[in-house]
Amino acid sequence: LFDALADQAAVAIERIQLVADVDKARLAAEADKLRSALLTSISHDLKTPLAAIMGAAGTMRDYSAISETDRADLLATIVDESERLNRFIANLLDMTRLESGATEPNTSLHYVGDIVGSALRRAEKIMAGHRTEIDIPRDLPMLRIDPVLFEQVLFNLLDNAAKYAPSGSTVLIRARTDDGSVVLDVLDEGPGIPPQDLERVFDTFYRVRKTDHVRAGTGLGLPICRGFVEAMGGTISAANRRDRSGAVFTIRLPLPATAGPEETK
Ligand code: ADP
Repeated sequence: LFDALADQAAVAIERIQLVADVDKARLAAEADKLRSALLTSISHDLKTPLAAIMGAAGTMRDYSAISETDRADLLATIVDESERLNRFIANLLDMTRLESGATEPNTSLHYVGDIVGSALRRAEKIMAGHRTEIDIPRDLPMLRIDPVLFEQVLFNLLDNAAKYAPSGSTVLIRARTDDGSVVLDVLDEGPGIPPQDLERVFDTFYRVRKTDHVRAGTGLGLPICRGFVEAMGGTISAANRRDRSGAVFTIRLPLPATAGPEETK
């Protein structure tokens, strides 16, 4: 177990170092105040799961007479918190790549329903307590998108719906065409977002409620969504449901241009 942990820690440290290196160059150009706010937030997000991992591993090392149940709990903590750390670092890397302009979408024609399907499969574990409803017409036109980026956007939105909407509630994903675009909505039945924060939730590290910090969030999910969607030529916005309590995230992507005279000549 400890060898495996040490290996994981070595990989994590390597990734942190990589992020730190890339970040150093980028942050040098930014204002001091923003830098220290970012660093405080990043180190908080790195330290919290690390502290939990170290605590659990230390307990397992120091107490030999541990019941099977406690042992399973401690291991679950180690696994969950390592996953959280891993996700945070992956998000940071996505963010850094976005900001350095290194995220070039690799687009091709896709049916949105297929990518919704793969995002749902990836989110299966975190969505286990929620119901999902899909309303995507089979004849929805294909879109020119990067399937990897698009799946990541949907995954982040599903992850948020699972975090902020109560378990047992329904998450609805629906799509339609509108005025030369495909519009995709992700609706949940959670608390929604205060009107003054609807734009700010797309800011790096912004969180609406103090208590949102206790959930496994990074404050990077939505800024990454916006960066990826914009890189594919679309827009993403947040709103509240009118029919009931809950948030709606709307992605709008232009339909691919039909072959113009130049292309058909
Ligand atoms: P986080 O990792 O904190 O979820 P995000 O960038 O994904 O970071 O979201 C930023 C903030 O927006 C969240 O901390 C939360 O306050 C708010 N938020 C995001 N999605 C929802 C949602 N579906 N319902 C209510 N609040 C949300």
